[in-house]
Amino acid sequence: MYNISIVAPLYNEEEIFSSLVNRLNDLVEKSTENIEIVLVNDGSSDKTENLMHQTALTYSNYNCISLARNFGHQNAITAGLSLARGTEAILIIDGDLQDPPELLTQMLPLMRKGSDVVYAVRKKREVSFFKNMAYKIFYRVLSAISYIKIPIDSGDFSLLSRRVVDILNAMPEESRYLRGMRSWIGFKQTAIEYDRVERAEGETKYSLKKLIQLAYMGIFNFSTFPVKIIKRIGYVSVIFSIMYASYTLYRKLIFNDVPEGFTTLIIVIMFFSGIQMFFLGIIGEYLLNIFFQVKGRPLFIIKDQIRDGSTVDILHHQESKA
Ligand code: UDP
Ligand code: MG
Repeated sequence: MYNISIVAPLYNEEEIFSSLVNRLNDLVEKSTENIEIVLVNDGSSDKTENLMHQTALTYSNYNCISLARNFGHQNAITAGLSLARGTEAILIIDGDLQDPPELLTQMLPLMRKGSDVVYAVRKKREVSFFKNMAYKIFYRVLSAISYIKIPIDSGDFSLLSRRVVDILNAMPEESRYLRGMRSWIGFKQTAIEYDRVERAEGETKYSLKKLIQLAYMGIFNFSTFPVKIIKRIGYVSVIFSIMYASYTLYRKLIFNDVPEGFTTLIIVIMFFSGIQMFFLGIIGEYLLNIFFQVKGRPLFIIKDQIRDGSTVDILHHQESKA
């Protein structure tokens, strides 16, 4: 029985693989916890799979999974979470050692003080100036427009309690932005700061395209802003068109200094384009309802319940607590 699992997704990480295993083994050795290592090979085309198999056969505390193809970072983590057996908590790290697994020793006490999620926040990030700016802007924009509080500068690096992982596993949504889903669940969530180091070996597996996809997932799964803005632009332009129409009408009737036909034309164009925008926004609202219905997220998550004088064991509570 393991009380902790460490989940790491790997996509073409042959250069760093042995350092990763060394760091993890060191951590397991020094720790008093019973730690399972869950590695998920996300359809690598290099030697990662071979190396992983060897490791899994050498050390019995490794739980190694290979996906049938490259399913992407978020899905690879999802696979790891669903197969991790840690009964108390699950640590998610990147496979490239940019997230120091040793932080576990500082995260665990925070969790044991009553947090269900301990998420790591990057104090500084060792990437190029432009990438850093892009990240900074993205996280701030997302946090400004999203309907839940997603902490700024936090990634997937986090320690999750067993019950949070059970809830994540039960969330059927296909488009998974895990750091958003994690915030959405609730319970007590605590931040811990760390320095994100540069990648020691290999190159980033996040192409610009994948990065943009991730950003889209964040925005379109946790913000209704893009749809709402259409409606807002719509009614603002309707109001504006009515005001402008009255003014043109006034010029026409009082001073008659408006060219023939212009009044009708301008009124019709402005009014109807505003109306169209507004109606698009209304259709958008229905679309949003369908969108959230299709996601099939639970409507609420219960923290605890006391009935007939004693605590009820909620379905997603960890079994060992029962
Ligand atoms: N990764 C993955 N599947 C992918 C892309 C990335 O499993 O399609 C893994 C990768 O091996 C690494 C982690 O996700 O362990 C983070 O990726 P990376 O370090 O390339 O991203 P960056 O740190 O540059 O944002
Ligand atoms: Mg990385």
